[in-house]
Amino acid sequence: MNNMPKSPDNIDQDQFLTILSREDALLRFEAALFPRTVPSEMRRLEDALGRALAQDMVAPIDVPPFDRSNVDGFAVRSADLASASETAPVRLALNDEMIACGVAPARAVLPGTATSIATGGPVPRGADAIVMVEHTDPVGDRAIEVRRTASPGQFVSYAGSDIARGEALLRAGTMVGSREIGMLAACGVAQVPVARRPRVAVLSTGDELVQPGGSLRPAAIFDTNGAIVTAAISENGGEAKFLGAIPDDESQLESAMRQALADNDMLVLSGGTSKGAGDVSHRIIARLGSPGIVAHGIALKPGKPLCLAVCDGKPVIILPGFPTSAMFTFHDMIVPVLRRMAGLPPRSDAKVSAKVPVRIASELGRTEFVMVSLVEGDEGLIAYPTGKGSGAITSFAQADGFLRIDALADQMPAGTEADVTLFTPHVRVPDLVIVGSHCTGLDLVAAPLARAGLLVRSIAVGSLGGLAAAKRGECDFAPIHLFDEKTGTYNTPYLAGGLELVPGWRRMQGIVFRKGDARFEGLSAQQAVRAALADPGCIMVNRNQGAGTRILIDRLLGDARPDGYWNQPRSHNAVAAAVAQGRADWGMTIAPVAEAASLGFIPLAEEHYDFALVTARKARPAVQAFLDALASREGRAALTQAGFRPA
Ligand code: AMP
Ligand code: MG
Repeated sequence: MNNMPKSPDNIDQDQFLTILSREDALLRFEAALFPRTVPSEMRRLEDALGRALAQDMVAPIDVPPFDRSNVDGFAVRSADLASASETAPVRLALNDEMIACGVAPARAVLPGTATSIATGGPVPRGADAIVMVEHTDPVGDRAIEVRRTASPGQFVSYAGSDIARGEALLRAGTMVGSREIGMLAACGVAQVPVARRPRVAVLSTGDELVQPGGSLRPAAIFDTNGAIVTAAISENGGEAKFLGAIPDDESQLESAMRQALADNDMLVLSGGTSKGAGDVSHRIIARLGSPGIVAHGIALKPGKPLCLAVCDGKPVIILPGFPTSAMFTFHDMIVPVLRRMAGLPPRSDAKVSAKVPVRIASELGRTEFVMVSLVEGDEGLIAYPTGKGSGAITSFAQADGFLRIDALADQMPAGTEADVTLFTPHVRVPDLVIVGSHCTGLDLVAAPLARAGLLVRSIAVGSLGGLAAAKRGECDFAPIHLFDEKTGTYNTPYLAGGLELVPGWRRMQGIVFRKGDARFEGLSAQQAVRAALADPGCIMVNRNQGAGTRILIDRLLGDARPDGYWNQPRSHNAVAAAVAQGRADWGMTIAPVAEAASLGFIPLAEEHYDFALVTARKARPAVQAFLDALASREGRAALTQAGFRPA
């Protein structure tokens, strides 16, 4: 322990008082870790796949090792054929030898002679060209006639023309793939020096964590970071070992961390780094080796509680608990260090450049990470911000990667060409992009597209956000459900030039309650709300401002603001979960969601869920496929089955 005189609590406070910038934190971390030698090991060629070369590889031989014929034919002296033509063929005497593959020639090709040679055979002494068998005629067994001239070097691969002896064949840090294995095999290399993968232990922390496969007790969540960090380490050259989730107990955690560090080159924890009760891991680190913590509390958003430490030469990292924060900080700040330890170059395949279509506000003084979804625009990739500021793992489903806004910027202006870090390098831009209001019916209609190999991306930004994206041409469809008070109609009045309406389906909105709740059973929606308002112990769950559902709720409530009014989740499912789990007694959602949650349902109004189609994108095959699926018998049946009414 390097800070002996201080009590653990003082250390803790000190660390949080010094908030470092991202750049300073990285500098300190790297200064404590590098330079260091990357340990290497020899591996058999066939076991080197996926490893990083530890040294430059120099070609030990020429490839091909001799001048080699590229065709089946005859080795000749080109000067002999200077006058050859279709009308005046040149006759050459055949030497008494046939050079097959693997046969070393014994005789020279003297003037006026030729030697039969197969593809891959070594060119004999004296010969400087090969003529194809097709351009010759046999004259008995002892001679041929050649009908064409031959240029010197014709159909000959000279020794070393593929790979020259002494040439730098592959550079240190190259990831060995099948191509590299091929090059090494051609040179006869059987043992390859590769970087030894750093052994990285992964630990999750938290009393609330259950491993996938276990059963979820109330208030528990599945351990997400354990799996995702382990996979991301393997993707970046580490040999990850997941050691499970440890409860927030100082002595248990300390012994797990000590053991992990003893057996491994690096330790990555997650959670337990904010200053909440039971957050102990950073205190333990101070006892594990020197110099200990180099940064705890970094000006990142999200990701402030990231903790970077080096204990006797081994990096120890505590990632923030929220999975998205953990991933931002892992990819941005830990991957470069891990790759350096693994002898790999910085990851170039995991960065793309994309234009940001909207202004993204950002907090001054903190480096901000923004999850983005990539969409093909007219002039290249567009990076659509998704799930900004949320700790939800679900935003991964829509996101391809993230961008970084500098601490000194208070915004990223619309139109900025930004660097996007991809979560995985094999990003695929979706074939069909749907931006707007979300509905579970979308998946039903899009299912056949996915089966046909089309990648469909739907981004939930609400009806108005979807319309704006459609007007900018950033999506194919914007699903909307917007009621126009003036005309008393849905959606059509909201369309702008360049957009056309494709009818979708009708969704029954209504009041949900737990089955058997006598306050609601058998009533109309209006009666039910009156009954709820009359009972002071009755709690509602509302919806967010701007949701179509919210308009219906506000109409029913009038000026009333019952308990629960300010609980305003953004989705139909969250309303159902709140009622089903007893946090609220009633709310409004759509019939299929109510049914899936086994809730009682009082129908209120049917709303129109339609699509604003960007006319300019109508001819795209994926758009046509979606239109077909929407109109198909199967699509309509699936919607009906789920409780929707196809338009
Ligand atoms: P903490 O830093 O431990 O206070 O965690 C912050 C938040 O992240 C809490 O909501 C935790 O439940 C959550 N969290 C921590 N570790 C994990 C994990 N391994 N998987 C999923 N969520 C986690
Ligand atoms: Mg925790």
